[in-house]
Amino acid sequence: MKLIEALEKLSNANGVTGREDEVRELMKKYLKPYVDEIREDRLGNLITVKKGNKDAPTVMLAAHMDEVGLMIKNIKKKGFLQFTKIGGIDDRILLAQTVIVHTDKGPLTGVVGSKPVHIQNEAEKKKVIEADKLFIDIGAKDKEEAEKMGVQVGDVVSFDTKFARLGNNIVLGKAFDDRVGCAIMIEAMKRLQKVDCNVYAVGTIQEEVGLRGATIAAFQVEPDVGIALDATVAGDTPGVGEGEAPAKMGEGPVVTVADAGLITHPKVLRLLIDSAKQNKIHYQLETGIRGSTDASRIALSREGVPSGIISVPARYIHSPAAILNLDDAEKAVQLVVAAIENIPKIF
Ligand SMILES: [Zn+2]
Repeated sequence: MKLIEALEKLSNANGVTGREDEVRELMKKYLKPYVDEIREDRLGNLITVKKGNKDAPTVMLAAHMDEVGLMIKNIKKKGFLQFTKIGGIDDRILLAQTVIVHTDKGPLTGVVGSKPVHIQNEAEKKKVIEADKLFIDIGAKDKEEAEKMGVQVGDVVSFDTKFARLGNNIVLGKAFDDRVGCAIMIEAMKRLQKVDCNVYAVGTIQEEVGLRGATIAAFQVEPDVGIALDATVAGDTPGVGEGEAPAKMGEGPVVTVADAGLITHPKVLRLLIDSAKQNKIHYQLETGIRGSTDASRIALSREGVPSGIISVPARYIHSPAAILNLDDAEKAVQLVVAAIENIPKIF
């Protein structure tokens, strides 16, 4: 399976934080041919390993399987659904979105209702409507009908976005943060046929609400080196100031120097930069972005694990549809493979 095909399938799957099952099943299927062991831990992380030399270092790759979304918190008398946000979502991007409510009886299509422009006054037109004032309309005539359709408090809601190809090598889809990391991890495991290191490829849960899965996965794996594979903000769109988000689409994978949760270990930073240079992989450096990744928790596991991050710049992450350049993802795979091959020389 090609990287683009895995990315398409993973992006179209639902994996709102805490409900990563669908993504985990796909990851299991796609990783199976390339790993020696595969298991799910008690909280739902997918832990797979490709064994190398017994005495060689252990490296943990982590890509989170969850995506930001919504959760139903109340069904109103007239059948409208109130919700809470799961993960960092800007209230302004929710209005008028088509969404999927995932119920035990199956998925339901709905729309985040909005007041038509015809009946808005001037003040209303300028106002941002906060998420707790918004509602999802699934076409139910009242609460009873919504319940009959299967809706319960706690059902998760994902954006209704289908993967699409845009211009040259550009794709659009939901949840590229972090399905692109998942797709890169699968492709890297495929290419790592003969390797010294013991390579763990871990699909983590609940990253978007506080890096929870990685915390317990790293404890189990006990790696010597940790590398998180993720998506980062591409700052190459109108309205983003120079220096606000330095990464650009099409300029190669991003190596994080520091973010809100990690100062990349100097040995890992050197490993990633040298591996990129040796293989003529164009890369970008990033620092100062206010997010964090699974690498923050891997780094602080047990006695400490030198860790770093390789990410793909994507526009509009944490919204219904992001855009990325497949060439950046391909180069990220090459960088992961090159770095893992170099690890025994350094660690
Ligand atoms: Zn992420």
